[in-house]
Amino acid sequence: MKSLKGNFQKAHIVIIGSGIIGKFNALELSELGCQITIIDPGQLQNSSNAALGLLMGNIYQKRRGRSWDLRKQSLELWPKWITFLQKFNNGLNIEKPLIQLTTNEEKFKKLEKFIYETNDKNLGILEKDSIFIKNVNKAFETKNIKGIISFKDGRINATSLLKTLDKYLKYKKINFLEDEIIKIRKSNSHWISTTRNNEEIQSDMIIVCNSLKSIDLIDKIYHHIKLKPVLGQAIKVDINGAEVDLLSLPKQFNINGKNIIPISKNKLIIGSTDEYGTEPEENTFEKLTNFLDKQPTWLMKGKISKKWYGIRSRPEGEPSPIMKKIEDGLIVCTGFYKNGILLAPACSKWVANEIKNYLY
Ligand SMILES: Cc1cc2nc3c(=O)[nH]c(=O)nc-3n(C[C@H](O)[C@H](O)[C@H](O)COP(=O)(O)OP(=O)(O)OC[C@H]3O[C@@H](n4cnc5c(N)ncnc54)[C@H](O)[C@@H]3O)c2cc1C
Repeated sequence: MKSLKGNFQKAHIVIIGSGIIGKFNALELSELGCQITIIDPGQLQNSSNAALGLLMGNIYQKRRGRSWDLRKQSLELWPKWITFLQKFNNGLNIEKPLIQLTTNEEKFKKLEKFIYETNDKNLGILEKDSIFIKNVNKAFETKNIKGIISFKDGRINATSLLKTLDKYLKYKKINFLEDEIIKIRKSNSHWISTTRNNEEIQSDMIIVCNSLKSIDLIDKIYHHIKLKPVLGQAIKVDINGAEVDLLSLPKQFNINGKNIIPISKNKLIIGSTDEYGTEPEENTFEKLTNFLDKQPTWLMKGKISKKWYGIRSRPEGEPSPIMKKIEDGLIVCTGFYKNGILLAPACSKWVANEIKNYLY
């Protein structure tokens, strides 16, 4: 590694997995001048493509510790990255604000306490006669919805983000290999990644970003890493003919734990479930629409026009995500059970700092 000391530009880094975490690491490191190869056999099947793209940072109620630090850092970094990525897609944006609603009085009291204690000008309690509350009550035929608003949180369209990152990576001529890595090993001062097709790729460093499968590549017992699959489903519902105008609702909101994104006058996205396993359960519509004591008829009559899922990895015995340098030249970024889209900028910044420390 001596030859690379002080010379970021010469470092060749292999990134295993091209979900949001792999792609964002590639963006950050490529901007720093590193030579990157990304390897993934089937990038469209991953959980990043299933994500709703909500950025729940400032609304997070535990305002200390590692999770809060990562969220806070990501929220600061996102606007800069959006401006940068707009060169490749000028439609890419963060839709704000984010609204959290509940019909449960006790839960609302907690939210209220959080807002008073936090005293953050980017957060507020929604008044009963606010346009958001009025329109949600009208559409959902309820009277008792209450909630808070976060002006700093919002949503990035995940599909559009991933496509924009692909455009950037193509523009930068980043090597992309469509193959599966079945083994990694160290050989003298280099790392070797072996593909399913028996190709051997030599690099100075490896960043393991392949979610659940990362434990197939590293010594999970020696490094004490345990991951379990958590499947999340989402649906697009068409409410053709209903008298409600979904565009009168907030752009993204959450009622009693379900995320709702109206995408046109008569279409909305609802997500997501937490299912421990790798096979989607069947009663998705019921599970995702069961967020009020009584659902409005237009929703119950709605038809699923699209249904999808993604499998995330949840660390066992340690908090999510797992970001560790586990050997010289080997970094693991996995276990992004929730919030992988939100946390990608903070994660890649951490990786870049680790690499700088290693190379300098
Ligand atoms: C329905 C749903 C809604 C969600 N909504 C949100 C949201 O609103 N906001 C938010 O922040 N997060 C959300 N998430 C969570 C978010 O999607 C994840 O945290 C994030 O996508 C994890 O990204 P990743 O890159 O770690 O994993 P993945 O996207 O799963 O990528 C891992 C990649 O590794 C590749 N791979 C696997 N094995 C190998 C191998 N041996 N060699 C090479 N490549 C390999 C796979 O093909 C895959 O492309 C949601 C998730 C789901 C399922």
